Amino acid sequence: MISKILIANRGEIALRVLRACKELGIATVAVHSTADADAMHVRLADESVCIGPPPSRESYLNIHQIVAACEITGADAVHPGYGFLSENAKFADILEAHGITFIGPTADHIRIMGDKITAKKTAESLGIPVVPGSDGEVKPENAIEVARKIGFPVLIKATAGGGGRGMKVAKTEADLEEAVSTARAEALAAFGNDAVYMEKYLGKPRHIEVQVVGDGEGNAIHLGERDCSLQRRHQKVWEEANSPALNVEQRMAIGKVCADAMKKLKYRGAGTIEFLYENGEFYFIEMNTRLQVEHPITEAITGIDLVHEQIRVASGGGLSVTQDDITFHGHAIECRINAEDPRTFVPSPGTITHFHAPGGLGVRVDSGAYQGYRIPPYYDSLIGKLIVHGRTRVECMMRLRRVLDEFVIDGIKTTLPLFQDLISNQDIANGDYDIHWLENYLANTSA
Ligand code: ADP
Repeated sequence: MISKILIANRGEIALRVLRACKELGIATVAVHSTADADAMHVRLADESVCIGPPPSRESYLNIHQIVAACEITGADAVHPGYGFLSENAKFADILEAHGITFIGPTADHIRIMGDKITAKKTAESLGIPVVPGSDGEVKPENAIEVARKIGFPVLIKATAGGGGRGMKVAKTEADLEEAVSTARAEALAAFGNDAVYMEKYLGKPRHIEVQVVGDGEGNAIHLGERDCSLQRRHQKVWEEANSPALNVEQRMAIGKVCADAMKKLKYRGAGTIEFLYENGEFYFIEMNTRLQVEHPITEAITGIDLVHEQIRVASGGGLSVTQDDITFHGHAIECRINAEDPRTFVPSPGTITHFHAPGGLGVRVDSGAYQGYRIPPYYDSLIGKLIVHGRTRVECMMRLRRVLDEFVIDGIKTTLPLFQDLISNQDIANGDYDIHWLENYLANTSA
C-alpha cells in the first residue's frame, strides 16, 4: 500500500496527480523550486519541500534533493508526471534502492524504450509494425547501400534522439552524404552520441498513438488512440480522441496489437505507443513510458482515471478494469494553452491579470494558473489544457467554439487565438490533416 506520494513535478501535471491522490485518500508532498513557491500545486498539497533554485537542473532534475525530500517527509512513493525525471531509469533505480516506489514502469523497460534502435527492435519482436529501415546503426560507409534497399526518400535519425533533433531527410542519393554527416554532428552535439539509423521517410502521415496500461504481471489493456497530428516543430498543439481517420475495426485491431505486446513484455503502468499512420498502415516510431500531456482526452471518452490506474498498479493492486469493461463514448479534443505569442510562438511569461476558466457540460480545464499568478520564465510554456467532450465530433467542435469564447487569460499572450482560428477552418472541421498541416497553415496565413 502507498500512503504518501511525493509529486516530482510542477504546473498542471503536479496538480493533476495531486487530485488523484486526494480522491484515493493518499497524502501528498509537493516539491518546488524557489521560483514556484506560490504555485497552485504547492498550495494544495498536504506538505511541500523547496528543492532548489529556479533552473531545473538544480531543482526538478536534482535526484539527491528529491530523494532527501522523500526521506524528510516519509513519502513512500514518487509520481514523476511527464518530462523532468519521468523517463530517467537511473532515478527509478535510485528510488528502488531507497525502498521508495516509483510510479511507473521498471527501470529496464524505461531503458529499452529510451534507446530508439533497441525500442524499435523490441517493438518488432513483440509484433508491433515498424517503419521499414536499417537493421540498427548505419555508418557513413554503408549508408548508400542501406538507403537503396529502403528506397528514397529516407530519414536519418539519432539513436539517442528526442525532440526531433538529429533528424535529416535525404530525398535522393545526392543528398545522402550530407544528411548523414549533419545528422551525426547534430546528434553528437545534442546527445553526446553520434550513432544514427535510417528509416523510410513517410510523406504525409498522421501521428496516432495508443494508450496502454499494464499491471506488470502480464495483464494489459488499451484505451484506444489519440490523433496528435496537429504539431508545430514536433510539439503537439491539438489532440483528439478518437482519431478522425480510423474506424472502429482499425481502432480495436491496433489497440489489440499494442495490448498483446504489453502483456508479453509484462509492462507495468501507463504507456503510449506512438505511430505514424499512412495509407491504412501503422508504423511504430517510439514508446513513451509515462503519463502523457494529452491523456485527459482518453479519460474523457473512456471514463477511466489514468492516474488512479497508475497508482493502483504501482501499489500491486492490479488494474481496476479488463479490456471488456472499456467502452468509448463520444469525442474529445484537447487544446494546449501556452504562454506564447499565437503567431510567433515566442514565450510570454509574466503576470496573469485576469483569469476566467470556462465551464459547463463536457468541459475540463487542467491548469495551475490563477488571477495574479506570475508565470516564471524558467520552464516550458504550457500553462493549461482545455479538454472538451461531446457525444459526436460535431458536438465537440460546437462546444469547443463556445468554450474558447468564454476563456479569458489577460496580462500575457497565449495560444488561445490560434484555436479560435483553427475551429473555423474547413480542413479541421473535416478532420482532414496530417503532421505537416499546421506548419503549412501557419506559413500560409502569416502576415
Ligand atoms: P523524437 O523522439 O526526436 O521526437 P520521433 O521518432 O518521435 O523522434 O519522431 C518525431 C517526429 O518526426 C514524428 O512525430 C514525425 O513528425 C517525424 N518522423 C519520425 N519518423 C519519421 C519517418 N520515418 N517519416 C516521416 N516523418 C517521421
